[in-house]
Amino acid sequence: SLVLAETIAGVKPSKTLAVSAKAAELRAQGFDVINFGAGEPDFDTPENIKDAAVKAIRDGQTKYTAASGTIQLKSAVQNKLQRENGLHYELNQLIINAGAKHTLFTLFQTILNAGDEVLIPAPYWVSYPDMVALLRGRPVIVPTTAENNFEITVADLQKYITPKTKALVLNSPSNPTGSVYSREKLQAIADFLAYKDLYIISDEIYEHFLYDGARFCSIAQLSEKIRAKTIIVNGVSKAYSMTGWRIGYAAGPEAVIQAMTMIQSQSLSNPTSIAQAAAVEALNGAQTSVAKMLAAFQERRDLICQAFQEIDGVACRCPQGAFYVFPEVSALYEKSFQGQKIRNSEDLAAALLENAHIAVVPGGSFGAENYIRLSYACAPENIQRGLARFKEFVQNLR
Ligand code: PLP
Repeated sequence: SLVLAETIAGVKPSKTLAVSAKAAELRAQGFDVINFGAGEPDFDTPENIKDAAVKAIRDGQTKYTAASGTIQLKSAVQNKLQRENGLHYELNQLIINAGAKHTLFTLFQTILNAGDEVLIPAPYWVSYPDMVALLRGRPVIVPTTAENNFEITVADLQKYITPKTKALVLNSPSNPTGSVYSREKLQAIADFLAYKDLYIISDEIYEHFLYDGARFCSIAQLSEKIRAKTIIVNGVSKAYSMTGWRIGYAAGPEAVIQAMTMIQSQSLSNPTSIAQAAAVEALNGAQTSVAKMLAAFQERRDLICQAFQEIDGVACRCPQGAFYVFPEVSALYEKSFQGQKIRNSEDLAAALLENAHIAVVPGGSFGAENYIRLSYACAPENIQRGLARFKEFVQNLR
């Protein structure tokens, strides 16, 4: 009969995309909306990468590729993992997907049976719980605290691991908190998990966005035992400002990667051949654009953190990675703007968009009701103007 799958009812559309859509709608109506909602760099894709795509089209690289991706791109990923992370993977331990989000979805499809539990530290990236639920798994949210830099500990794992636990998701640097696990903290987790029967999904998409001399460490680097159960998820979207090209990848145990390849061969066929050629240039070509973007983001991070210092009732930590700030805003709850009461993060985001014309994402979507997320991947002038509006908005709360 004409009914949808039961899983659909329990899943929500991506909130971050919804905020951007609403902001675009107001902008189309002529309002000067400043968008702190976007999860993407505002830089253009570097020229050398675009040129590689144009060349691929001219050279006729416009047909199906192998389901797991071209040899050229898998080799480029292999070199990247060796060069930047000191990790060696065989080509049959690598797969290219249509964005890291698609990598994660395909991975969950590969490992989850109905009712399998996936540990997801909160605040989490919006899509993890919904993806797991969509595949009939059970997202188990592991709360963290600001005092602990939003990081999970061995004690948390001890508390939440059950015989049904299939996987743990780690995301460092984190969206939305910007927290970065130190090598020592990861080592403690790795030592504890070495003899546990579960997969570790390490989402490393913000790997290159590190500030104040923070160093990136992948948990897969910490021991062979851990590497054997870890699937690294990464992609070119953020580091090379290629969000629209849709190229992500995974590195992990051969059995997992081969099963993912099988699913991909029956669903996607392959990621776009032209985007794959562009990603080869991103990974193999000059890396100067990454450093340039990073320098700009460091300045913007400092700018936005400083501006938040001047807003009463908003506590903003200065994060070490990614390109988001995640201020605590619960002191504003129960106040009203022009008679309209703000009860939670969703109300606050709606009021900010409606009245100050700034788009932010409510923390509730990340499992952190007392927070909101702002992306500072936007022009410094907009950070200044936007935060001035934020300040004025707060001053007018009663
Ligand atoms: N993982 C995290 C933590 C992200 O924030 C994002 C994008 O917002 C992704 C994965 C997906 O990236 P992609 O654009 O490659 O699908």
